[in-house]
Amino acid sequence: VKDLIRIFDVSKPWLNRLIERREKAMLTAVADVSFEIEEKTVYALVGESGSGKSTIGKIIVGLLPPSSGSVEIEGVDLYREQDAKAVDHIRSDIQMIFQDPYASLNPRWRVRDIIAEPVAAQGGKVDGLAEKLLEQVGLSATDAGKFPHEFSGGQRQRICIARALASEPRLIVCDEPTSALDVSVQAQVLNLMSDLKDEFGLTFLFISHDLTVVRHMADVVGVLYLGGLVEEAARDELFDDPKHPYTRMLLAAAPKLDGFGREADLPEGEIPDPINPPSGCVFHPRCPIAIDRCKSERPALRPVGKARVACHLAE
Ligand code: SF4
Ligand code: MG
Repeated sequence: VKDLIRIFDVSKPWLNRLIERREKAMLTAVADVSFEIEEKTVYALVGESGSGKSTIGKIIVGLLPPSSGSVEIEGVDLYREQDAKAVDHIRSDIQMIFQDPYASLNPRWRVRDIIAEPVAAQGGKVDGLAEKLLEQVGLSATDAGKFPHEFSGGQRQRICIARALASEPRLIVCDEPTSALDVSVQAQVLNLMSDLKDEFGLTFLFISHDLTVVRHMADVVGVLYLGGLVEEAARDELFDDPKHPYTRMLLAAAPKLDGFGREADLPEGEIPDPINPPSGCVFHPRCPIAIDRCKSERPALRPVGKARVACHLAE
């Protein structure tokens, strides 16, 4: 995702307030966010609700065309490529696993057809495919003839993972893949994803608000605040030596999170209204070390040590 991206997003509470008041507004959900995901690694995007992480996920899988910017896999641009065959090809190279396994499986389809669908749509061979994938995700080949309602939440997320694997994708985007699951099931599904990653050399974009999960899964972490990247670093570097005040605030609040995988309010105030973002550094109203310059000058994301940080005082 490069350059400037402007989109409408009607899922956010402050936009609903505007709609109630029958006002119109332009909102920049994500801007100037640019990052690379290296093959066979897990890149985690972490941030509070409303930070833009799901928007980026939707853009990357092709569900939400950005107003500008690009999504490239090995030089092929998902939104600008003219050759329909090449576009189909990269679309099948990018699969998504959603937060809610209940909503993302067609209740009238048998599991066999759900899993094979991405391959069937490409005209590929589907004989025995679902059965093989079901076993790889810890279910049974005989489950292929059943319907989604016959499975628990954790089992349904395993079916979603099997479907995502079916087209042998290059990149799997997971948006809060375990936060709708019972606490006891979350770790099992995360461990399965880790194992599959190692076994098949998968590449993940892992979207989460949950630092416990991110620490468990990520190789590289990007921290989002109000639609912009404020810090990006290798996992251990980020957790051991966070350089942005917001990252430090997130890490300090992490033990206070309400259990494993539940979203909890951070202590130091809420994310401001993105329609009227603060001037300068958008984090300055919450920043404990802000200086005058922060109110007028927006910090660019720049290299600091091995990390990239958007803060005037990162050193
Ligand atoms: Fe805080 Fe200023 Fe750094 Fe923004 S630029 S995070 S306000 S110190
Ligand atoms: Mg989200």
